[in-house]
Amino acid sequence: MELFLINYNTHYEIEQLSRMFFRDLTVTKTDAVPSLPAENYVLIVNKGGAFDITVNHKGQLYTHSLTIDPEGAKEEMQLCTAAYLLYEKATGTSLPWGVLTGVRPVRLMRNLYKSNENIQNVINKFKTEYLVSDEKIKLCTDIFDLQKPVIENGRPMDYSLYISIPFCPSRCSYCSFVSTSIKSAGHLMAGYVDNLCEEIRYTAKKAEQLGLNLKTIYMGGGTPTAITAPMLEQVMKTVQECFDLSKVEEYTVEAGRPDCTDLEKLQIIKKYGADRVSINPQTFSDNVLKAIGRNHTHRDFIRCVNDARKAGFKSINMDLIAGLPEDTVEGFENSLRGCIELGAENITVHTLTMKRASNLVIKNEEHHYDDVSKMIEKNSILAEYGYQPYYMYRQKSTVKNLENVGFSQSGHESLYNIYIMEEIQTIISCGAGGVSKVVGPGGEIDRVYNYKYPTEYIKDFSAILKRKDEVFDICRQYGYQKD
Ligand code: SF4
Repeated sequence: MELFLINYNTHYEIEQLSRMFFRDLTVTKTDAVPSLPAENYVLIVNKGGAFDITVNHKGQLYTHSLTIDPEGAKEEMQLCTAAYLLYEKATGTSLPWGVLTGVRPVRLMRNLYKSNENIQNVINKFKTEYLVSDEKIKLCTDIFDLQKPVIENGRPMDYSLYISIPFCPSRCSYCSFVSTSIKSAGHLMAGYVDNLCEEIRYTAKKAEQLGLNLKTIYMGGGTPTAITAPMLEQVMKTVQECFDLSKVEEYTVEAGRPDCTDLEKLQIIKKYGADRVSINPQTFSDNVLKAIGRNHTHRDFIRCVNDARKAGFKSINMDLIAGLPEDTVEGFENSLRGCIELGAENITVHTLTMKRASNLVIKNEEHHYDDVSKMIEKNSILAEYGYQPYYMYRQKSTVKNLENVGFSQSGHESLYNIYIMEEIQTIISCGAGGVSKVVGPGGEIDRVYNYKYPTEYIKDFSAILKRKDEVFDICRQYGYQKD
């Protein structure tokens, strides 16, 4: 499908929306209507205060002339709504999130609520202006209600610490994270861990000088348990020595891969103060695990969960992915029920994302994933077992434009996940691929990036400490320091 935009420069939203219907979209921007193909194009002509929209879908024409309402929503939003209705008519497809292309629909709801102070007005806007389905509106309002006390309890000088260990036993075919296989980068691990510990010590010292309050710690990556047990102990011990963990409300370590996580490592994690782990089956189907390049079976996963319970963990998250190659709706339901039976306190259901950085995007096409919506519908089973949705985010290029949702048993909601996804608390990141986000008093966000890959992180480590200084300078500028 080709999108022709004539005399229109503000095109981000309309381009994103069009891509949701037509994944192979190409875009041409000109100031005069060019010669058009015989079929499969969208033509949008900006006439100043009005737009002519033409959709040619498989030779069939659909047209609409839109006059912008100066009292109405933003011009681009009005254009998106009109285009959406034409796309829906042409393709016979509705999108559960309507014209919303953003990553954080709950935050949008909260911001509208803040300016409107009436949740019913906000719900109406989601329904009539953004064309969001009733089911997704309910998902948003449930999460919005559950997050409310967490958000109201936040204080400006609170922060969370993210620690990145960007190594994995092998690379999953759908992965687009900064993560290196230990087969190719194992020799970097010892040097990386030494530098990481130094960055953690530096961060702790600076945060203490300002008087910031550490609320949660999240160690992710990659897979932190991919490093050796002594290296893991080195990092965990450093964290314990640097921070007063008695004041930390939540400490999570990703022990995502059963093929590198054993009782010894889980005991180390527990011994040094973490109280929550994430062990991720992704699926309970062994043929699917093989298809995505994970070197473990679902039995390995169950062994790993039993080890975590033996080590004393009372809060375990399990990640699943809907839409993996070779998976079926029944297979997905079986995985979901498997996590419930194992007593997961949190279950996070992701929808597969076709990111360019992953290997999977090269091999598969969107039409292979027609069952994904049906898989996501299976999430309703979770409510029967007492799980409530408590955070959500969307990603570009997610199959069927669906969402990722964290479900939790009451009292086990991960604060860190709420903070990071809703961008309501400062997160200070250590390690390669880490991004520190300082949240200002008015909700402003300043980002400071660490180097992405372990090689550059090790090679130019002094630059990392300078970037940390930048993070704390920003905190100071916002007045985040003790008198
Ligand atoms: S375990 Fe996670 S970070 Fe590691 S390769 Fe797989 S998807 Fe990527």
